[in-house]
Amino acid sequence: MKNIIFIAAPAAGKGTVSKKLVDEYGYLHISTGDLLREVIATGSELGIEIDRIISSGNLVPDDLIFRLIEERIQADDAKNGYILDGFPRNIRQAMGYEEILKRLNKELGIVIELDVPKSILRDRVVGRMLCRECSSIHNILTGEFTPIKEGICNNCGGELYKRGDDNEESFNARYATYLEKTKPLIDYYQDKGCLYKVTGTKAPEVLKSVEVLLND
Ligand code: ADP
Repeated sequence: MKNIIFIAAPAAGKGTVSKKLVDEYGYLHISTGDLLREVIATGSELGIEIDRIISSGNLVPDDLIFRLIEERIQADDAKNGYILDGFPRNIRQAMGYEEILKRLNKELGIVIELDVPKSILRDRVVGRMLCRECSSIHNILTGEFTPIKEGICNNCGGELYKRGDDNEESFNARYATYLEKTKPLIDYYQDKGCLYKVTGTKAPEVLKSVEVLLND
C-alpha cells in the first residue's frame, strides 16, 4: 500500500477519512496531534510545555516532531502502509522527513490535499465536541452529528468535552499558521509530481475520491 500524506487546514476531515482508510484497508494512522496529546496526558514537564504551545495555536518545534515520527514509522504496525495526518506541516519538516525516509529506506508515497472552504472549517472547529468514552465527534453548529441531549454522546451516553484548542481565537491562529507554513507544501509536492487534490465537504464523496487515487 502506498503511504499517504494528507495536507489540509484544521478540521478539513483528515481524521475522518483516515479512520475509514484504517478500517477498510488496514492502514496505520499516525497523527502528530494525537502523538503530542499523548505526551501532554503524561503530565510531564515536556507535556505542559507542549500544551502551552498547542493552546496558543502555534507549532511545536520540528526536532521534537522528527523524533516522534521517526520512532513511529519504524514500528512493526507501520510496515503495510501508513497515513501521516498533521505532518509534515512546513517545508523544513518536509525536507527533514525525506532525510528520515532515506535513512530508513522507505517510500514517500502520495500526497493528498483536502480542499475545504474556511467558513465550514471554522464552524467544525468552534462547534466540535468529543466523547470522553468513545472519542466520537459531534458538532453543535454544523448539523453534522448534533448531540441529541446536550453534553451527552449520541453513541454511548458518555460525557462530551471540547478540546483546549477548539475555540474561535485558536482556530484563527491555526488557520493563519496553515496558510503561512503548511500551504506552501502544496507547491513543494506539486513540483515533485506526487500531489493530488480532493475537493468536497461530505465524508463519503471525499473518501471515494481518495480511493480512486489509491487504486490508480
Ligand atoms: P488540527 O488538525 O485540528 O490542526 P492536530 O491534532 O493535527 O489538529 O494538531 C493540534 C496541534 O498540535 C497543532 O495546532 C500544533 O500546535 C501541534 N502539531 C501537530 N502536528 C504538528 C507538527 N507536524 N508540527 C508542529 N506542531 C504540530
